[in-house]
Amino acid sequence: MKFNTKTIHGGQESVDPAYGSVMPPIYQTSTYSQSTPGGHNGFEYSRSGNPTRSALENSLASIENGKHGLAFASGLAAIDAVLKLLKPGDEIVSTNDLYGGTYRLFTSIFKDFGIKFNFIGMQDASEIEKHITDNTKLIWIESPTNPMMKIIDIEAVSKIAKKHNVLLGVDNTFATPYLQQPLDLGADIVMHSATKYLGGHSDVVMGALVIKDNALAEKLYFIQNASGGVAGPQDSFLVLRGIKTLHLRMQRHCENGKAVADFLNNHPKVANVYWPGLKNHPNHEIAKKQMSDFGGMVSFTTKRDNIKDAVAFVEKLKVFTLAESLGGVESLAGHPASMTHASIPAEERKKTGVLDSLIRLSVGVEDKHDLIEDLKQALG
Ligand SMILES: *Cc1c(COP(=O)(O)O)cnc(C)c1O
Repeated sequence: MKFNTKTIHGGQESVDPAYGSVMPPIYQTSTYSQSTPGGHNGFEYSRSGNPTRSALENSLASIENGKHGLAFASGLAAIDAVLKLLKPGDEIVSTNDLYGGTYRLFTSIFKDFGIKFNFIGMQDASEIEKHITDNTKLIWIESPTNPMMKIIDIEAVSKIAKKHNVLLGVDNTFATPYLQQPLDLGADIVMHSATKYLGGHSDVVMGALVIKDNALAEKLYFIQNASGGVAGPQDSFLVLRGIKTLHLRMQRHCENGKAVADFLNNHPKVANVYWPGLKNHPNHEIAKKQMSDFGGMVSFTTKRDNIKDAVAFVEKLKVFTLAESLGGVESLAGHPASMTHASIPAEERKKTGVLDSLIRLSVGVEDKHDLIEDLKQALG
């Protein structure tokens, strides 16, 4: 199957055996009757497995070209499960501009359990090798990164990981499998905040892992069941429904992302636009190599770099909603310096490019003319 068919049929039973329902029912049940101890139809308790969640997990495996999908209560619960593969003394090499929640999970929870983290710039993948020791067990990356839209060469990183027998995990939330498929580029684990593009409608919080290797999937399934951060049946249904239009939504997110990036790039008040599809983006060539298009996440700074003007801009927006999160059908705007990155001191923020005027847009699937008009009036 091609990707645009997999989003709809991948891993799905063609007909529900009970009544022929086209969508899998929401099996809102915690347990399953047994005819004799152990005599069940494949499900015994919904932490261990639930048919609605299984339908979603099979879809996830299909769209990421993996063999096994695992659905979690949130993106962070999914990453939490990956970290539990490690032991005290093990080390992780990761990027220095991680999603804030991931950074918090690493440094405020797992550091206390004796896991060591190295956060480094990875736009030059060869940097990574200098930080790998005998104790390194995992490389954890995101591409594109948040909010600066840096691109990491996943294939180059996977070669380094394989050479040193280290696992590579890729947070594919921003790109989605529509744009890039990290398992095909050599990654061992793909992770999603399904809260974002996979769900796609800002109505559910969920996480996912996709794995090819049977033994690794078995370990992660064990952790999922033993630690219990599973996705519920209702949420599984919603994300499965979301995935069925992923390719349609992403196509429009990309078109609108380009239109918005081009508009901003030509606006006299705008200083820098960060969108990997722009030729002047520092990682444009790698983006072209590993992504089929460039997505709907766009960040930019203005020439007058101060918090007051940036706040006035986001308050004036009418079609874009000022909100955390991303990846839904509606356009959202965020001001990292006062929202997601407010806890980072201004000097630290500026080192990674998060200036006072930086605005991050999750460009939705509305009419692009309305989006551009909205940005124009707010910049004015
Ligand atoms: C939102 C997000 C997460 C965390 O996912 P939750 O579903 O909010 O727990 C992790 N990584 C990235 C890139 C995200 O955008």
